[in-house]
Amino acid sequence: MREVYLDYSATTPVKQEVVSEMIPYYTEAFGNPSSLYGPGLKAKEGLTQARQQVADLIGAKENEIFFTSCGTEADNWVLEGVADQLRDKGNHIITTKIEHHAIIHTCMYLQKYHGIEVTYLDVDEEGFVSPEDLEAAITDKTILVSIMMINNEIGTLEPIKELAAVAKKHGVLFHTDAVQALGNVPIDVKDLDVDFLSMSAHKIYGPKGIGALYKRKGIMLPNFVHGGAQENRKRAGTENTAGIVGFGKAAELARTGLAEHMAHSRQMRQYLWDQIQDKIEDVRLNGPADFDRRHPGNLNVSFRYIEGESIMLMLDGGGICVSTGSACSSGSLDISHVLAAINVPMTIINGTVRFTVGDFTTKEDIDYTVEVLQKVVDTLRKLSPITGKEGW
Ligand code: PLP
Repeated sequence: MREVYLDYSATTPVKQEVVSEMIPYYTEAFGNPSSLYGPGLKAKEGLTQARQQVADLIGAKENEIFFTSCGTEADNWVLEGVADQLRDKGNHIITTKIEHHAIIHTCMYLQKYHGIEVTYLDVDEEGFVSPEDLEAAITDKTILVSIMMINNEIGTLEPIKELAAVAKKHGVLFHTDAVQALGNVPIDVKDLDVDFLSMSAHKIYGPKGIGALYKRKGIMLPNFVHGGAQENRKRAGTENTAGIVGFGKAAELARTGLAEHMAHSRQMRQYLWDQIQDKIEDVRLNGPADFDRRHPGNLNVSFRYIEGESIMLMLDGGGICVSTGSACSSGSLDISHVLAAINVPMTIINGTVRFTVGDFTTKEDIDYTVEVLQKVVDTLRKLSPITGKEGW
């Protein structure tokens, strides 16, 4: 059976060049990077090079990059660190209703255990945050604004430069979760003028379990993981050397291949959307209609009268991997907080599927996907007790 992977925003396959670069760090250069003899020094060199490669991808300096265990850790570190560091200045954080759970659940933790007050900004029907809304929400107690660069479900590319400028005007620190944006759109931290930026390797054809935080030079942030002197004394724990080296290589490939990657993803995404519209009725695009203002590979579609969960499982039966807009937890279907925030009607919110294309997606993959999808949607709609009912 043909296998088609259309879930690049969940994770990406690790590129062969990345794997090849990593392997020696499990075998020859296996030393602890803190050890001052041969294999340790070799491992240390790998870290130094990777730090530069990641810095180059976002226009940072290498001493502004701190490796973490994942994007989630980078997000947690900024929110909890700033809340502790600026305790005397204020207790108010501003974020949005459509952030990843790495941000939202950390904010909820800070509200519950640290007396932090959080404003969750509304977004418009395409998922955009308004700089005016942000400005109106800032008070003299605001210590941090955290707004994602690209939304992981609907692909909205937020106006980070404008939003960061609003925070700066009021002397408030600005963080952006760029896990979905890294390697998918150009990023220049100096131009964006952000203070913190979170990244993750497994979304850019690198390994899982390795992320990084960009921290603008000179900004104070207490440590999150305490222990040894690794990461310039800012993040303890023996380094995941091979993972870091893999992240570095993936970042280099992402930088040199960015234009080609974006063009290919956009072309495949457009073809997928054209085919879906052509072959399947009663569909609705979620997220920005202007494809230049969303993740180049993201397509989020609701299929009326049926459930995304069933579509996903039946596509899997045909060897096709996609994800749904709703998260299945403890046997019940939770409605996506992102789709709810952009007011996708309750009647179709559960019929949502997220397709994300990437470097290995081909036109043939999409032809096959749409062929199977058409049959799946037909079958499910025939079974659906609600097809054509008033209000659908
Ligand atoms: N932030 C966003 C926007 C994401 O999409 C993800 C992962 O899906 C994360 C954070 C978490 O990254 P990681 O999987 O490296 O912890």
